[in-house]
Amino acid sequence: QPILNPNVLKLKESATLAINMRARKAKADGLDICHLGFGQSPFHVHEKIQSELANNSHQKDYLPTRGLPKLCESIANYYNQKFEYNLDENRILVGPGSKELIFQALYVLEGPVIVPAPSWVSYGPQLNIKGREIDPVITSVDNSYKLTASELEEACQRHIDEKQKILIFNSPSNPTGAVYNKEEIEELTRVCRKHNVIVIADEIYSLINFSGSKFASFHQIYPEGTLISSGLSKSHAAGGYRLGFLYAPEGMESVIKCLSAMISETFSAVSAPIQYAAVKAYSIDNDIDNYIRTCTRVHEVCGNYLHDRFKNMGLSCSHPKGAFYLFPDFGSFKEKLKSKNIHNDVELSEFIFENYNVALLPGSDFYFPKDAMAVRVASVDYEGENVYKEASLKDSDS
Ligand code: PLP
Repeated sequence: QPILNPNVLKLKESATLAINMRARKAKADGLDICHLGFGQSPFHVHEKIQSELANNSHQKDYLPTRGLPKLCESIANYYNQKFEYNLDENRILVGPGSKELIFQALYVLEGPVIVPAPSWVSYGPQLNIKGREIDPVITSVDNSYKLTASELEEACQRHIDEKQKILIFNSPSNPTGAVYNKEEIEELTRVCRKHNVIVIADEIYSLINFSGSKFASFHQIYPEGTLISSGLSKSHAAGGYRLGFLYAPEGMESVIKCLSAMISETFSAVSAPIQYAAVKAYSIDNDIDNYIRTCTRVHEVCGNYLHDRFKNMGLSCSHPKGAFYLFPDFGSFKEKLKSKNIHNDVELSEFIFENYNVALLPGSDFYFPKDAMAVRVASVDYEGENVYKEASLKDSDS
């Protein structure tokens, strides 16, 4: 056998992709699976974006490494209008999904990486590829799993000798649906400034916000220290388009330079037809805006419904305010579960899949302790668009 890189040998297949394959296989075998394990929007890509893609199938040239200039301009305008950001189009890098750009940014930036737990499954393995580990900070359901300033301070103290630290910050959150408000980000910013923390703000769900307040970002409060990562996958239901971007602020020219070089030596540029279609997605268009609002409303209805069901079952679960996930824990059933030989979240997820045909993910895939008995549940089955259309109609009727 060939000798392989030990960092990569330790990796497992991404937990979410693995559950997707498994649920698909069970479905193909004829089982009626409720697939709440995969983080994919159930909606279709808006027709206007689809036709822009079709109209640009002739685009075959390599595009500039940093992205199609018209697209960078559209992305900057879009977020400057939507969230009153102050983005400069020349500081945007386009990539094949935000996942790849987060990976490259983590490759470029040195320093310990602090991650609130639970957090998205891929941050840890992405660092493992580089031979490093994340430093997860376990958060509390009592604070809706949101990182507090004192928890961040404590984490920074653990790395006090390091000149630079990284915080990966995801709001709205996968896997909890938590959305931070402005005051909470201000508190965290105090600690970031004190300890020279660079924030990677993973804002892939920023448009799926039903907290009732305007979306608050580190970019508005701590612009000099914040990289923004986002893309079309969730808000525009276009995960398969593989279109993401990263924004680096003034003062981080070296990051843009290094990332541009990395991109030019790796994927070169994102597919040309997709970039042209993305210009449409990031235009200010009433129809597309209304569509995103309707989809978000359905995510809210489904999130509320599942939250109420979980609470009635006696599970502890914070109320989702954005994205499309919930993170209930079965801690109060520990003794009962023990009698069924279930001692941790992995065994619990297996049990639920085998006995109830419901696919979900164990909380430990999100760096949460196994014995917390938490699971991540997507509030939507990504194959159920018609069901959700009905649900949203019923809800707005009533
Ligand atoms: N960040 C979070 C929190 C996610 O949930 C995902 C996708 O599941 C991504 C980033 C990556 O999205 P993409 O690479 O499709 O842009």
